[in-house]
Amino acid sequence: MNTIGFYGGAGGVTGANYVFEWNGLRVMIDCGLFQGGRFAEQENHKPFAYDPRSIDAICITHAHADHIGRLPKLIKDGYAGPIYSTEPTAALARVMLKDAFTIMSHECEYHKDEPLYTENDMRAVFDRFAPLPYNTEKKLNDSVSFFLRDSAHILGSAMIEFHADDRILVFTGDIGNMPSPLLKAPYRIDFCDYLLMESVYGDRSHESTGERKLKLERIIEDTATRRGTLIIPVFALERTQELLAELNELVEHNRIPRIPVYLDSPLAIHATEVYKQFESYFNDEAQKELRHESDLFHFPGLIQTLTRDESQTINAVPSPKIIMAGNPHGYGSRIAHHFIRALPDPNNTVLFVGYARVSSLGRRLVDGAREVKIFDKTIPVRAQIAHISGYSSHADQTQLKNFVAGIQKPIKNVFVTMGERSSSETLAGVIQDEIGIHASVPKMGDVIELE
Ligand SMILES: [Zn+2]
Repeated sequence: MNTIGFYGGAGGVTGANYVFEWNGLRVMIDCGLFQGGRFAEQENHKPFAYDPRSIDAICITHAHADHIGRLPKLIKDGYAGPIYSTEPTAALARVMLKDAFTIMSHECEYHKDEPLYTENDMRAVFDRFAPLPYNTEKKLNDSVSFFLRDSAHILGSAMIEFHADDRILVFTGDIGNMPSPLLKAPYRIDFCDYLLMESVYGDRSHESTGERKLKLERIIEDTATRRGTLIIPVFALERTQELLAELNELVEHNRIPRIPVYLDSPLAIHATEVYKQFESYFNDEAQKELRHESDLFHFPGLIQTLTRDESQTINAVPSPKIIMAGNPHGYGSRIAHHFIRALPDPNNTVLFVGYARVSSLGRRLVDGAREVKIFDKTIPVRAQIAHISGYSSHADQTQLKNFVAGIQKPIKNVFVTMGERSSSETLAGVIQDEIGIHASVPKMGDVIELE
């Protein structure tokens, strides 16, 4: 029987984990962490719904934790095959998994919890990576092969295009928001029989890239005029590098006042180093820029604070200043300390530049909370709270719809996944009503038979 099993990233954004079976060959696509609170913790600790030893190969779409975070557990539970991805994904996965392991170890020690996996399990993942270039066929057996196609979401991100006998199945992973200052446009899929796609922004639209830079410039100017601090919670991958590249440009053209900019996240600092190693993956515009500037991510005034001591020196520096720290959901000790200091003062601004999960601290601030609880302290929110959706590294509803509309029919089914339920259902409705293609929203645990 030929099937797709949905074991994560179905009916929710995180935990992406699918098993595609074709004539007995079992290929896993992504093995992500469930994120967001206690329920997610419990999901991560549950045994896999299948025997990891029965999986023949894994294809990874990209290096975000919700796509790779359970790989070490999978190895611990017996998986012994290859992990295919692009080269940047393999490099970023090392950085991401090491960071996740450090955080997990501290938390488990504090709560006296059993860790999800050991350091050896994590290192075994690094040894299993088998990097492949984009657009090159990789045969798994006589009837199944696949190509990695650029999905333009973060550096090295890929859609997985399977060819199984005469069928084509595409797993999009996350699809990027265009145009990107760094990445090339996503690969255009011409034909496919089954599409499994993301829907994080399936019910929303972003502002344009031009508007976002103007907004950023205005927010920096206003905060500097008030002699306040601008806090920008950032994801370490892509958002950080895009912001650094745009700040670089604003500084170079004297569009913003010269104030110190702190990159206060070891993970983002390490990830930026990986970006510098893979400049050949950047788009033409960024490549052209590189010809007269050796480093797109560095500019006068930028200070990277790697250690805790360095991080603490930021507090002594008088405002105005800009602090970029992870992550947008508001968890993690550095960003939490910056929030505690910044939120009560109306001269400060907290700027969100992307997706903040439902019920996260970040989402409560975006939704206008007047006070928030951080480390059991109640903090009044008097700082300005701003949000620029154009910095998202996810395609919005229109871009997702156009992606599907660009594929030649007949697609038998679009499986709408990796979104909050309402977002997935909205997108499935749009695909059915406006493009006339059958679309469904699978549930966790569904195993759907393919024709
Ligand atoms: Zn992602």
